[in-house]
Amino acid sequence: MENCLFCRIVSGEIPSNKVYEDDKVLAFRDISPQAPEHILVIPKQHFDSILDADPQTVGYMQSIVVKLARELGLDESGFRLVVNTGFDGMQSVMHLHMHVLGGRLMLWPPG
Ligand code: AMP
Repeated sequence: MENCLFCRIVSGEIPSNKVYEDDKVLAFRDISPQAPEHILVIPKQHFDSILDADPQTVGYMQSIVVKLARELGLDESGFRLVVNTGFDGMQSVMHLHMHVLGGRLMLWPPG
């Protein structure tokens, strides 16, 4: 999608700090990290949000989250997986993404 920030990251038009890439998914470090480890996992195909995505895509993203969590050692310490959706979810980038947050105690509510 032409004016989608994350599509422009997928195409390479906007640089990102990549941690994983394959033909379906890209994972990169959040530009404004809220934890020592803050990775965004996105599908290369554009979906506005999890409401529009097919279960295969969401399931595949989940498998990459688990793979990265293991590689980063977050399977031992734990982590938070967040999918902000829509207005009340305060989704700011309308391209489906999963936040993987770890490396500190994730107190709730976030602060
Ligand atoms: P959300 O609020 O759930 O839509 O999350 C969007 C996330 O994208 C925020 O955590 C931003 O810090 C992050 N973000 C925005 N622009 C970039 C960028 N160019 N590279 C990496 N992360 C970004």
